Amino acid sequence: MESCSAVEREVEKVFSKFNGLKDHSSKNLEELCNSIQSIQRELRDDDKLTATQTLILTQTVRRIKEAVSRLGQEHKELHSTVSKVGKSIDRNFVNDLTSIATDGAFEGVEKTDLLNEVVCEHFMRQGMLDIADALITEANLEIAEEKKEPFLELHRILGALKQKDLEPALSWATSNKDRLREINSCLEFKLHRLKFIDLLRQGRMSQTEALYYSRHLSQFATQYPRDLQVLMGSMLYLRQGIENSPYAHLVAPIYWDEICDVFTRDACCLLGMSVESPLSVSIRAGCLALPPLLNIRQVMQQRQVSGVWTNKDELPVEIDLGKDYRYHSTFACPILRQQTTDTNPPMRLICGHVISKDALTKLSNGTKVKCPYCPIEQLPMEAKQIFF
Ligand SMILES: [Zn+2]
Repeated sequence: MESCSAVEREVEKVFSKFNGLKDHSSKNLEELCNSIQSIQRELRDDDKLTATQTLILTQTVRRIKEAVSRLGQEHKELHSTVSKVGKSIDRNFVNDLTSIATDGAFEGVEKTDLLNEVVCEHFMRQGMLDIADALITEANLEIAEEKKEPFLELHRILGALKQKDLEPALSWATSNKDRLREINSCLEFKLHRLKFIDLLRQGRMSQTEALYYSRHLSQFATQYPRDLQVLMGSMLYLRQGIENSPYAHLVAPIYWDEICDVFTRDACCLLGMSVESPLSVSIRAGCLALPPLLNIRQVMQQRQVSGVWTNKDELPVEIDLGKDYRYHSTFACPILRQQTTDTNPPMRLICGHVISKDALTKLSNGTKVKCPYCPIEQLPMEAKQIFF
């Protein structure tokens, strides 16, 4: 962030200098053009130049020459400011990240295909279906049509919501009513509420329609009693307009942004997808992790302990990416102090303590194993594998 601000400061310097130069030079050039035009007018009728006219002409030519050379000089100065931006970028950003890259991470047809698929899925998620299609053709990817289908539907409904058309989202929510209820979704209520508010906004004309529509809301009476009270109360102000009533907040545009977020979150949940594209999450997490990784690489090189960073699945330091990037935790065995893997999974003992499978094997004494945290004994086979 600091690096970005440092570069931004240099860019701002260029802008202010450029604008200053632009104002100053166009004013100068305009003045010169005016004086040339007035001389031209004066000379048009005369065949010969008077002494005064010659003097004025010589002076003007000199002024023009001076102005041109001054402009050239200022232009050169502008160049030096621009080149400072480049230097600032070099100074503030690392341009060679190969030292912390894992060799061969994306080598081989299988890995390249996988990477292309991830990129393709990202485009489909963002609704850039034409780019995704182009990538599928160019990279010879095999992506089934039914995999595209959910993305198409998601974008069709979201597109309509952005145009303030609630119908596609409402019919989707109605047909997925039960599943939405299972995940405790408020989507259907919020859609009906928005539709109701939209009717209220049209004023007295749609009073009857709004009243009829409120029947859709009755099914949510026990779940959202307070919201329903507010909605019904707002009907009293139909005559003077909701915008001029104590209920003006109901017509705030923020509700339209909110419904897009709620729909995306719940639809992704039903489709078994994460709300955010895995690719963008990985890239953002990578950007956060890069500075500490670069630092540790430098320290390791200075102390010549490069051998520490050999395990490809594990980083030499723990990097805290913040709350937003904590997904499935990886269990670290408290005995062996290693992160568990598919071949060495976490095992739950009958007492409830969890250790890794390797630790369990090491601790088991013939037939029995004693929990390292409490003295309860059990058979090794009684331990159960747990999944995070
Ligand atoms: Zn125990």
